[in-house]
Amino acid sequence: MPLFFRGEYAGFIVKGNFMTLAAKPHLVEEGEWLAHQIVEQNRLLSGMLRCVQEKDRTTGRPTCNEHSCPSMSAGPTTYTWIDTKGNPINLPAPTYIKHIQTWVSGKVQDQALFPTDNFTTAPPLPRASDVKADPAHYLGRTSGFPQRFESEVKNMYKQMLRCYAHLYWQHWLVFWELGGHRELNTCFVHFMNVGRAYRLLGEKDIEPMAPLVDLWIKEGVLPKYEEEGGSVASPTSVPERGASTVVGPTSGAGVGNAGTAAAWSD
Ligand SMILES: [Zn+2]
Repeated sequence: MPLFFRGEYAGFIVKGNFMTLAAKPHLVEEGEWLAHQIVEQNRLLSGMLRCVQEKDRTTGRPTCNEHSCPSMSAGPTTYTWIDTKGNPINLPAPTYIKHIQTWVSGKVQDQALFPTDNFTTAPPLPRASDVKADPAHYLGRTSGFPQRFESEVKNMYKQMLRCYAHLYWQHWLVFWELGGHRELNTCFVHFMNVGRAYRLLGEKDIEPMAPLVDLWIKEGVLPKYEEEGGSVASPTSVPERGASTVVGPTSGAGVGNAGTAAAWSD
């Protein structure tokens, strides 16, 4: 078993209950809260990725480079991209990760998906009874998010998880040598806590990191949910094949809209 799945290396840089960081404040609408979380989680992940993307002083190249990581792997798992014809292709991990970062940033800055209009008054909080009675309700509706918001958030989360999985499986030693493994754990446990609380990840997405997640559940760092062992919500969208010339990650990043094509063409 890799060292990073062992209890003695699974600690954090902060003490306390991670749920206080994940739990939605009462008066904030869930869509608003998830949008906030995506921005924050992306910021934390980018900080961790920077550790392997910056040029090493002795070698003059980043830790994660085309030679060290010729594919986007996480131990036994390899993630493939899809080419313009919808075929899976292998990309070096640094390229894959760069594409993900560009893609997530593009989504966050997309006004149609993450509207940033200033409110003079806060949007109304939907009441649970109203939500139940309204067949047209969807997550984030009252805050002005589009209907696809929830599935887009799930896709972003799934791809971000792949980046964490790659960091752990391929580059954990670098974090350990720098004394940064607890910082990595702290960012990742917060990421997982939010992902689990709002069911943004499927069981299969979590698989490469499951031993660490299970360990944290066992230690009570992450809460255990009743439905676990049963059906956990899973993103179901698949790449929209044949929709223009978009290149995207396989297994459903929902990247078929032409708006993202330009950002990915490098
Ligand atoms: Zn790498």
